[in-house]
Amino acid sequence: MANTEQLIMQRLGETGIRYSAGRKALIRALSKADGPRSAAELYEDLGRTIPLSSLYRSLAILDKTEVLSPHHGVKGVTRYELAEWLTGHHHHLVCISCGTVDDITPPPDLEADLESVVKSLTSSGRFFPRGHALEIEGICSECA
Ligand SMILES: [Zn+2]
Ligand SMILES: [Zn+2]
Repeated sequence: MANTEQLIMQRLGETGIRYSAGRKALIRALSKADGPRSAAELYEDLGRTIPLSSLYRSLAILDKTEVLSPHHGVKGVTRYELAEWLTGHHHHLVCISCGTVDDITPPPDLEADLESVVKSLTSSGRFFPRGHALEIEGICSECA
């Protein structure tokens, strides 16, 4: 995490954005989370210490500087997570009942299988893949 924070500070420094205490707390909460979190979820994660309006603003700014990645979930809720250049490549389990999103990192052999599926699906040469994201929809243990 210390290293992640250094990378974030560097990125924000380059773009002239202040790494305020609030943003630090926001980044810490996201790095502790099991997956992408919405502004409302982060508001609760942070014990309602940061006003929702400033959470929205910080999320938008950190998204623009590519420190965070948006996840557009079920029911039109946008959740954010630390970008993959900070945390590593992974996929998502999405609960179709409550909307919670959990990260899942497949073992390397399965990730290689996914890569070859992507290659096969785009073998026409008319589309040039730069990445992929697998969304598995289902019911989480809380909702089951
Ligand atoms: Zn659920
Ligand atoms: Zn994720």
